[in-house]
Amino acid sequence: MNVGVIGAGWAGLSAAIALHDAGHDVSLYEAGPLAGGRARRVPAAGRAPLDNGQHIMLGAYQRTLQLMRRLHRDPDSLLLQFGLKMRSASGDFELRCRALPSPWHAVAAVALAKGWHTSEKAALLKAMAHLRPGGWKVAPDRPLAQWLDEQRQPAGVVKRFWEPLCLAALNTPLADASTAMMARVLKDSLDAGRHASDVLIPRTDLSDLWPDHLPADITLHRHSPIQRINAAPNGYTLNGKHWHDALVVAVPPPNAKRLLADLPARPGTKRLLQHLDAFSPVPIATLNLILEEPWDALHEPMLMLDDQADPGRLGQWLFNHAVISNAPDRHPLISIVISNCRPENLTDRETAGRVILEQVCRQTARFGPMPKVAEQMLIIEKRATFAATPGLTRPDNHTPWDNLALAGDWTNTGYPAVLEGAVISGQAAARCIG
Ligand SMILES: Cc1cc2nc3c(=O)[nH]c(=O)nc-3n(C[C@H](O)[C@H](O)[C@H](O)COP(=O)(O)OP(=O)(O)OC[C@H]3O[C@@H](n4cnc5c(N)ncnc54)[C@H](O)[C@@H]3O)c2cc1C
Repeated sequence: MNVGVIGAGWAGLSAAIALHDAGHDVSLYEAGPLAGGRARRVPAAGRAPLDNGQHIMLGAYQRTLQLMRRLHRDPDSLLLQFGLKMRSASGDFELRCRALPSPWHAVAAVALAKGWHTSEKAALLKAMAHLRPGGWKVAPDRPLAQWLDEQRQPAGVVKRFWEPLCLAALNTPLADASTAMMARVLKDSLDAGRHASDVLIPRTDLSDLWPDHLPADITLHRHSPIQRINAAPNGYTLNGKHWHDALVVAVPPPNAKRLLADLPARPGTKRLLQHLDAFSPVPIATLNLILEEPWDALHEPMLMLDDQADPGRLGQWLFNHAVISNAPDRHPLISIVISNCRPENLTDRETAGRVILEQVCRQTARFGPMPKVAEQMLIIEKRATFAATPGLTRPDNHTPWDNLALAGDWTNTGYPAVLEGAVISGQAAARCIG
């Protein structure tokens, strides 16, 4: 079949590769200038490119790792991998998975954590023990803050474990986050083999990681926004000119709704379009600091920052690319992630940059002074993820139309908006075609 895939984010790309490998002719249409979608390179003149936001992966991202291998992109050299480590920049807290079989690696991490009283460790282990026998399922789903209250989680455990993990994985505040989705993340990372919880950080830019390395016979049309899908005899036309037997629509929900709304109504169409309206976007900001010289005393790849709702402490995680990257000629780069950021705190970019820089300098004081910042870039992605809230109905990959499937991190993967979910959705959409 001749299949068109609309959107070259990780979902559309993964669909395109699966369709290609199943023997179909595949054309990809991407509105932007390059492949990768939200997880893409942002080119920069005169220096190494940045990403459209710092991303991490987990050892649990098996489909993504398989896809990389399929494209001859070696995860071992392109990703820095280490056992899950939540170490505060100030040095007063550390939780580190140990070299033990799962789940003891995680139990030992909690039992030996630095910065918690025994009662706090016991409360966290008890909450985990409550989730595990039921297969990490939570029914009825409810806000994580409510579930944490029910489980009597102490403030120190909420602050150092639940809140940072919930923001990192779901990009949704505790008061709104889905406990079921958080439990699914915990199951697939902490209870799925020792290396499933490993942290994997790209050593190259996100487009180079694999999206730039598609099989040569997949045609990628860049700068090609699709404005219209029309049903045609035995297929569909795009923008009135490209004809395909089948389509995968792999764009964010509002864009998908615009494209699908004009197709002939079928049973289930109205409900699908309503579901596409139900997603609320949540922003993420990344402050990139290019240093004048390497910060040799900072030998950690990733540190947890102490954030608070007040605008003086915004950043949650610090990434040190001098340690992450294995390219000696890369500029010393520090990236600070602000999940679920409030764009109103960041409208004055200069002030926001200064506030975050002061926060980082204060909290990393034990590593000595940070070298001078040569350049700083604040990247704000307003529609970084969808709010992972309880009761969100996420569409399946099948649609009411023949040979027209949906892909995207927002489809019904069970995961929050993450790279692995996008890859899984693309492969599931490809299976709907034919
Ligand atoms: C700052 C940031 C940090 C993140 N951190 C992490 C992380 O640490 N770990 C993790 O796992 N995930 C993270 N994520 C989430 C991850 O990036 C997404 O889950 C994933 O990239 C979604 O891929 P997708 O293909 O579903 O959607 P997208 O990447 O949004 O792809 C959709 C594509 O469709 C194109 N498009 C839209 N409309 C049209 C049209 N009409 N015609 C043609 N093309 C169109 C868009 O240009 C885009 O390229 C982060 C996201 C952001 C933004």
